Amino acid sequence: MPSCPECTAREKKKIQEKYEAETPEEERHRDDLIKLFDEIDFPMKLDSSTKHFICKRCGLYATREQVSDIRYKLNQREKTRQDKQDDYLDWWQKSKKEKELT
Ligand SMILES: [Zn+2]
Repeated sequence: MPSCPECTAREKKKIQEKYEAETPEEERHRDDLIKLFDEIDFPMKLDSSTKHFICKRCGLYATREQVSDIRYKLNQREKTRQDKQDDYLDWWQKSKKEKELT
């Protein structure tokens, strides 16, 4: 059964916020978060007559294709946010270097 992409994304955000609140920055590991994320489980129920999956928690009702589509879009959004941070870091480090040179 696919797990609900909406509930999973919401839970991930919650777990990450909790983790960041409880764990000092220097003790944080990406692997810890991934392990926590692995425990998230929101299996959807298959409605065999309509071939749609239903999430009992948030009420999402979608075909398998729509479920993977939503998951893909949510992952994309997550990725672009991280990319932007990386870009910012790059820019910041570069400008720092340039300042040191001048
Ligand atoms: Zn859901």
